[in-house]
Amino acid sequence: MQKKAFNIAIDGPAGAGKSTIAKMVAKKLGFIYVDTGAMYRAIALYMLRQGVDRTDEAAVSEAVKGAKITIRYQDGAQQVLLNGEDVSGLIRTEEVGNTASATSVYPAVRAHLLALQRELAASADVLMDGRDIGTCILPDADAKIFLTASARVRAMRRYKELLEKGEACNLEEIEQDIMERDARDMNREIAPLKQAADALLVDSSEMTIEQVVQAIIDAAVSKGLPAGRVQEGC
Ligand code: C5P
Repeated sequence: MQKKAFNIAIDGPAGAGKSTIAKMVAKKLGFIYVDTGAMYRAIALYMLRQGVDRTDEAAVSEAVKGAKITIRYQDGAQQVLLNGEDVSGLIRTEEVGNTASATSVYPAVRAHLLALQRELAASADVLMDGRDIGTCILPDADAKIFLTASARVRAMRRYKELLEKGEACNLEEIEQDIMERDARDMNREIAPLKQAADALLVDSSEMTIEQVVQAIIDAAVSKGLPAGRVQEGC
């Protein structure tokens, strides 16, 4: 019988460093990294392009039927396709992120992505990050992590990132935005952001990236991942 894929679920609020950390862990373990936020962002981009009012649930629920989301990998990096177009480079803006946070509250949007996310996890050893992976998408994931950091630390990280990119920004506004996004993600009715009962809580506020990566690898090994899977020096 074919061995079941090993699945690691990482959930947590915006800006906790999930994608940076998840990419590093996936590389060390030879896992496929699945960024589910990118899928919600691709749907948000579709809504923006179609001029759909993000506060109109009926309109968003109808429009989402026209957004076919697929994933492909090139040199190990995930690309997200919207109706066949690679939109990976277009979905990282604040506007798309905010729209994604608003449109992802609708059940029709979540249902639209559920099968794709589960199929990816069934077919390979994956490390999947998002908001509801450990609680809804992969309740039987082998290892679950809830990665968080204080709103101030998350805002500070985002602020530095934007400054490095040469974008004008304001720390207070970023922190406010992060808190609003947290509230929306945590208080929605369907699949709210919350720590699964069997998830390990990792608060990265005072940790280095390497320490967080190690904590996640240790958690996976403690849940049965063979230690021999860990590749050194990458
Ligand atoms: O993680 P990222 O910031 O790219 O996600 C964008 C938005 O998509 C989040 O603010 C969240 O509202 C939504 N999302 C979600 N469920 C996931 C992943 C992302 O609702 N599994």
